[in-house]
Amino acid sequence: MSLEKGEVVRKPLIAGNWKMNLLVGEAVGLVSALKPLVKGVSTVDIVVCPTFTALHVVSQVLKGSNIELGGQNCYTKENGAFTGEISPQMLRDIGCAWTIIGHSERRQYFAESDAFLNEKLKFALASGLKVMFCIGETLGERQSGKMNDVLKRQVSQGLVGLSEVDFDRVAIAYEPVWAIGTGVTATPEQAEEAHAFVRGLVADQFGKSVAEKLRIQYGGSVKADNAAELMAKPNVDGALVGGASLKADSFAAIVKAAL
Ligand code: PEP
Repeated sequence: MSLEKGEVVRKPLIAGNWKMNLLVGEAVGLVSALKPLVKGVSTVDIVVCPTFTALHVVSQVLKGSNIELGGQNCYTKENGAFTGEISPQMLRDIGCAWTIIGHSERRQYFAESDAFLNEKLKFALASGLKVMFCIGETLGERQSGKMNDVLKRQVSQGLVGLSEVDFDRVAIAYEPVWAIGTGVTATPEQAEEAHAFVRGLVADQFGKSVAEKLRIQYGGSVKADNAAELMAKPNVDGALVGGASLKADSFAAIVKAAL
C-alpha cells in the first residue's frame, strides 16, 4: 500500500535527541544559540530532548520560542517507589510537550520489550504528552531478510490499543539501528521503502486516514548535508537527530532542510 504526501499535509517534525550528553551550562549554551537560528520557522515542528538534569533550565530558556521540549524516556506510573524513573506527569510539570519512547538504545541496553513500550506509550499519551515512538531493525535483521517482520512486530505490538485520536499525538521514528551514531545513513530510497512499509502497516491496523496523517521521522546519522534528500521523499516527514543535534548550526540547518 502506498500513501503519499499530497493526499494530506504532514508538517515536518525535527527533533534533537541529545542522549546522555551536555552538562547544564552546555545545554543552556546550545539552546541559546539555537533559538535565534530557527526564529520565525513556523512550518516545521522543532523539538529538543535534553537529559533530565537539563530539562528545567532548558525549559526556562525556551519560554516563548518556537522550540518544544521533550524527554528521552519516561515510566509507566505517575509516582511511587520506582527508584531512578521519571513520570510523564513530571515531564509535563517541567514544561515537556513530548517524550521519546522505544529508542533502540532503550530496547538494546535496557531490555525494553514491545509490550513494556506499549504500556509506556499508552501511559504517556493518557498523561497528555506527545510521543515519538521509535522502531527499526538491526543490521543482522536486515541482512537476514527479517526487516519487514521486525517492523511489523514493533508496530503491531508497540501500538496496539491506540485509538484514532491518540494518533494526533504520536509520531513514529523509523531508526535503522545500523545507522544510529555510525555515520552510515540509510539512502533516501531505503528510508522511503521502510517508511512506506510502516505507513502501510499502520493503515492495515488502524485505517487509511490514521496512516495518512501519521508523521514518520527518519533517524540514523542525519546531518545537514543529507537531510534535504531524505526529507524530499514522500513518506519521510522529518527527522530524529542524535549527534548533529548537539551543535546549534547543524541542527538549525537540518530544520531548514525541512522548510
Ligand atoms: C538517535 O539518537 O536517535 C540518532 C538517530 O542518532 P544519530 O543521529 O547520531 O545517528
